[in-house]
Amino acid sequence: MKLTSLFFFSSSVSYAIAQAEIQGYTDTPIIPGTTYSVHDPARPQPTIVETAGALEVKPPSDAIVLFDGKSVDAWENPWQTKDGVMVASEKNTRTKQSFGAIQMHLEWRVPAGRPVSGQNGGNSGVFLMGSYEVQILQSHNNKTYPDGQAGAMYGHLPPLVNATSPQGEWQSYDLTFEPPVYENGKVVKPAKLFLLHNGVVVQNGELYLGPTQHRKLPEYPEKHPVTAPIQLQDHNDPVEFRNIWVRPILPRK
Ligand code: MG
Repeated sequence: MKLTSLFFFSSSVSYAIAQAEIQGYTDTPIIPGTTYSVHDPARPQPTIVETAGALEVKPPSDAIVLFDGKSVDAWENPWQTKDGVMVASEKNTRTKQSFGAIQMHLEWRVPAGRPVSGQNGGNSGVFLMGSYEVQILQSHNNKTYPDGQAGAMYGHLPPLVNATSPQGEWQSYDLTFEPPVYENGKVVKPAKLFLLHNGVVVQNGELYLGPTQHRKLPEYPEKHPVTAPIQLQDHNDPVEFRNIWVRPILPRK
């Protein structure tokens, strides 16, 4: 009896501590279709899946190469490069070219040894059309609100599983994105994301509620561009990037 009580006591304590460590917000709106608030720390943590790490997919012949380890010509206000990697610094960078529906590949890593806690230390993101964030975060051994972890559609949908590599290791995103379709000023087809993280599906054709927001519900604007630059987020963390390419998805012949 004593042993049981002790076990119960200690497991309750560790649960409380684990929960207390997860930062988040509870004063935010409820996300439609869920019972969770935006950035809800109590949302279930995605199951951890170990992977072999980044898929290093070389650009196919019809790809538009955005970063090959050397040239940053594809970028406005380009970031610094060192040893064949592009390092997030000072401000967001965005492509000179605009895109709509795309397939995209990129590899990223958070340098080893950098202190990481919650949203801090290892944060960046891919903003498709400059508006729809696919979160980049060092989420291995680092809990945060699930709609803000690696592979999340930030502020809306956590990844299906947590496929994040250990810090210091390269990781890959392979995604397809479709922009929203408007008819007579109304969204008839929301923006759509399919995402593989280290080769593991983490977003399976999910629909964006609108352009990404922090602490607010996304909402589609009345007017929306047909194409827009892809933006990479500078969140004051030196997240590194390599092997970035896109293929516009064109209608079938
Ligand atoms: Mg981010």
